[in-house]
This record gives sequence, C-alpha cells and structure tokens, in this order.
Amino acid sequence: MTARQPEVLIVGGGVIGACSAYFLAKAGRSVTLLEKGEICSGSSHGNAGLTAYSHVTPLAAPGVLAQSLRWLLRPYSPFHIKPRLDPELLRWLWHFRAACSENRMRSTIPVLLALGQASRRLHVQLHATENLHCDYQYSGRLYVFNSRTHFEAGLHEAELLRGYGVETRVLAGAELQRTEPHLLPSVIGGIYYPDYGSLIPDRFVHALAQAARRLGVAIESSTEVRGFEISGRRITAVRTERGDHRAEEVVLAAGAFTPLLARPLGLRLPIQPAKGYSLTMKKTAACPQLPLSLEERKLAATPMGDRLRLCSALELVGYDSAINPRRVAAIYAGARDYLAKIDESSPAEPWCGFRPLTPDSLPIIGRSPQHDNLTIAAGHGTLGITQGPVTGQLVTQLLAAEQPDIDLHPLRVSRFPQPR
Ligand SMILES: Cc1cc2nc3c(=O)[nH]c(=O)nc-3n(C[C@H](O)[C@H](O)[C@H](O)COP(=O)(O)OP(=O)(O)OC[C@H]3O[C@@H](n4cnc5c(N)ncnc54)[C@H](O)[C@@H]3O)c2cc1C
Repeated sequence: MTARQPEVLIVGGGVIGACSAYFLAKAGRSVTLLEKGEICSGSSHGNAGLTAYSHVTPLAAPGVLAQSLRWLLRPYSPFHIKPRLDPELLRWLWHFRAACSENRMRSTIPVLLALGQASRRLHVQLHATENLHCDYQYSGRLYVFNSRTHFEAGLHEAELLRGYGVETRVLAGAELQRTEPHLLPSVIGGIYYPDYGSLIPDRFVHALAQAARRLGVAIESSTEVRGFEISGRRITAVRTERGDHRAEEVVLAAGAFTPLLARPLGLRLPIQPAKGYSLTMKKTAACPQLPLSLEERKLAATPMGDRLRLCSALELVGYDSAINPRRVAAIYAGARDYLAKIDESSPAEPWCGFRPLTPDSLPIIGRSPQHDNLTIAAGHGTLGITQGPVTGQLVTQLLAAEQPDIDLHPLRVSRFPQPR
C-alpha cells in the first residue's frame, strides 16, 4: 500500500518530532508524522519539565569521570552503568571520555547557550501565540546544597557560567529560607539561576501536536517504522507496519531509538538510552514554590500545577524499561534530605524514560552525509524539552536550505566517525 505523499515525513512523536512538525507546517510544508505508539509516549512524557536556557554546563566535564567512578561503587547513586560488553556503549564511553576535557567543555558551553537563548525566545513566542495550557512559568530554579563540598563545587560552576554572561545569585541563611520556606535547616546554601522556565511536558507536546494538526499535519500514531527503501543516495520509501510512506524528505526524530533506525541506513549515531525516573504526586501545603535541584542527590523537584514531580537517576542499562522499586525508594529518601514534608503515603505515579544521550552533550541536528533527503534531529539528552522549539526551527531552515539561525557545524552528524 502506498499512502499519501507529503513533502516531509517525520519519524517520532516526542517533543522533537512535534516541534519539527509544527515549525515545518508553519513554513508551509506538508508533513506527516509517524509514531509507533501514542504522541508523547517516550522520554518527553514524564520528565522534569524544565527549560534550562542558560544553566548549560555539559554532562561531559572535567572531574565527571572520577565522580562517576565513585558513584558506580554505591548502589542507587544518581549514576549507574550496567557492566556489559556492548560495542556501542564502549564506543560511547570512549567519546564521552574525550569530551570531558576542559577545552571541550569550554567549547560546548557557548553552543548550548546559543541553543538555550534561541529556545527561550521561541518558548515565550509559542506560549504567547498558541493556547498551550501547560502551566509554563518563567520563575528560575534554585540549586540547594547540604554539604560544604558540593556547595563549593556549585559556586565554582556558577563562577564558570558567569564568565559566559549567565546570571546567578548565591543565597544563604534567612534569605534562602525566605525564598524557599520548606527547606530543612540542614540545607546550607543555594544558588538561584533566574533564566529557567518550567512546564508540564506531556501537555506541552500534546498541545503542540494539536497546533501542528490545525496547520494540516497528518499524525499517524500506532505506526512503527520498520525500515527504508533506498535508491542511490535517496530514501524512496519509509516502511511501516501499516504500509509504505513516500516523501521528498525524511526527518528521524525518534529520540533514544534513533540509532536503531539509522543503523540500517549506514549511520552510526552514538546515542545511548540514559534511563531516568520520575515520581509525580499531589502537592502538599509544604511543597516547594520554585523548581529545585537537590544537588548532592542530583534530584529535580518541579512544581507542576497541583502536583509535584521528583526526577532522578541516569542509568546506562540499555533499553530496560522496568521500574525498579529500590530506585523509587531512593528518590523519596533523597528528597527527605532537603524537604520537610514529602508525603509517601499519597499515591505517586512512577515513570521512567530514556534520555537520548550523546557523549558530548550536544544534539545531532543535520543532514545525513550519506543521503540527499535525510535529516537527523535527535540526541537532546537532558535538554530535549528546552531545545525542542529551536530544533524544530533549525530543521525547517535546513530543509528550506536557508542559513540557519545557529551555526550547525558543532551539531553535524559527521562529528562522529561514520562507516564508509
Ligand atoms: C527523568 C528525566 C527528566 C528529564 N528532565 C528534562 C528537563 O527537565 N528538561 C529538558 O529539557 N529535558 C529533560 N529530559 C530530557 C527530555 O525528556 C528528552 O531530551 C526529550 O524528551 C527527547 O525528546 P525526543 O522527541 O527526542 O524523544 P522521545 O520523547 O523519546 O520521542 C521519540 C518518539 O519516537 C517514537 N519512536 C521510536 N521508534 C520509532 C519507530 N521505529 N517508528 C515510529 N516511532 C518511533 C517513540 O515512541 C517516541 O514517542 C528528561 C528526561 C528524563 C528521562
């Protein structure tokens, strides 16, 4: 069966696919989006919902390897790798190690900052023009510490980012308690980053997909892409469980699953599924007012409407989507180190998802070097909700062969060696 022929086929209905569909349709392109499950059923669903426009220290940074090794020795620490002989994981770790140098970190920060600043403009514009109803707040985020060592590391990071023009404010004592009255007295200090927003991510993505539909985008859910038909340097058909789709252009935006789709196309994308957890519960009277980062535990606490979401953990365990009850218990225990009243008796929705993590903390946004009509938009790691809108705009500019608003060279596919 050959379905209708749009100009662009997007594979993946998370934040990146939905934003790409929206901006392409806005630019007058006819678009079909193919999603194997429901819209926003992947990593975009239950995450922390933060839009980090300028707190952009990459995950790969000096000292991270030593810290990760220490964490590896502790069960249920924020970071975990399941030891295994997986060549893709080993290759990823090799690239990650290289990206942890001071020079690489310093060259990555301005790229993330450019993406973040463009994202802020687009988030503000989208929330002003579309009825997104996703509780978007531009309230900043407070990083809190209960140990001197981590507070000092936080101050060092803030100083580093101030060098790039990022605004930060150090809080302690009465000022900290006034800013966030429900913190335990054991919290010794805080650093406030004003350039942060938050939203309810699944509502955001569904609303954007709805806006894209109004612009004429056809969304086909329960349609898994299973392969491609290739002729020379062109993808001539996208094979799905419901038949073939043809289009002039194909965009792969399947999050952590993108490397599995790209492999038969001859592309090796070092994107690891970095599993993370969230617990969403009813707000109590003692709920934090601001989005918080509980630093020693690497826990995010985001107020979302009448609920509070706690997020944590980065596990490289492959595509294992089981919810580990001990991980859930570790999130509660971590939150209790900072917050007076975390109510474990009220039911919380546990969730896990796979961040699509590149080793250098930058997304892959660019044309395939091996194909004339394939674009990759994946690998947004811990920042996909933040960078969704700018990615949608960049994909639209790439497909129109326009000068992109942001230099795409650091984001190109071929920064990672590709098979010949
Ligand atoms: C615990 C946690 C907290 C996070 N917190 C934040 C945060 O605060 N701020 C932030 O900016 N980011 C955050 N992130 C990261 C963010 O969630 C991701 O970067 C983002 O969701 C990636 O979006 P995506 O569209 O690339 O992938 P996804 O949302 O995973 O979407 C990919 C889609 O492709 C579909 N798909 C896969 N294979 C196929 C196929 N063969 N055919 C058709 N469809 C297919 C999947 O079903 C899925 O719906 C967090 C992530 C986690 C796990």
